[in-house]
Amino acid sequence: MTEPPLPAPDDERRAQLAANLARVRSRIDAACAAAGRDPAGVTMVAVTKTYPAADVTLLAGLGVRDVGENRDQEAAPKAAEVAAAGARVRWHFVGQLQRNKARSVVRYADLVHSVDSVRLADALADAAARHREAPLEVLVQVNLDGAADRGGALVAGDDPDRSVDRVAAAVAGADSLRLAGVMAVAPLGAEPEPGFATLAEVAARLRVEHPAALAVSAGMSGDLEAAVAYGATHVRIGSALLGMRSTLR
Ligand SMILES: *Cc1c(COP(=O)(O)O)cnc(C)c1O
Repeated sequence: MTEPPLPAPDDERRAQLAANLARVRSRIDAACAAAGRDPAGVTMVAVTKTYPAADVTLLAGLGVRDVGENRDQEAAPKAAEVAAAGARVRWHFVGQLQRNKARSVVRYADLVHSVDSVRLADALADAAARHREAPLEVLVQVNLDGAADRGGALVAGDDPDRSVDRVAAAVAGADSLRLAGVMAVAPLGAEPEPGFATLAEVAARLRVEHPAALAVSAGMSGDLEAAVAYGATHVRIGSALLGMRSTLR
């Protein structure tokens, strides 16, 4: 009797990712059903930070089209590796971004979720004008916990660099950028619903002046149901899809 061949590590990982993907998709479907929404209106962004390019390629083979990263140092080589492997995905930059990384990010990112200051919007606009053909899609990251050091543009007040309205105006006014909507991370250690309700209000207010800014990026592995209930069009899913990360990011 011959033993069946051991599955190659790649096959095992593919099967694991496929099972995780099926679970996440059924959670999104159930959340949409509960909210009376069409699942086609919710894009799942697979957040692959800390995981290798090979996982992105496997996910692309399973039908995942949108991939997120939060650090340029990791994302730039990974995007190059995935492209070299022949997989086509849309890259979403979801992490805090330093202005001196703008020139790198605009070369591979299709959409930047985390623009939270006029100065960053200006740096991206300048870099995109020099290094891209198509406009860069941008979401204004909204701070939901009132802690100005946690990132995100501020809902209240009229800070010339960091108010949501000023940041949105800077993005909308740049030919090389396209204002696509808003993004937020739920406050740490609190129920996500009030934050997501605030985000929905900010999104609705922004659409009065910017009717094409339709995207609402909210929800991660732990709170995607609440995000869908409050109108998220993009959920950013890391650990539920790829596994727990060994580092806290
Ligand atoms: C890591 C990360 C995610 C994914 O978080 P999970 O809890 O692993 O799903 C989503 N959004 C941002 C901004 C992240 O940095």
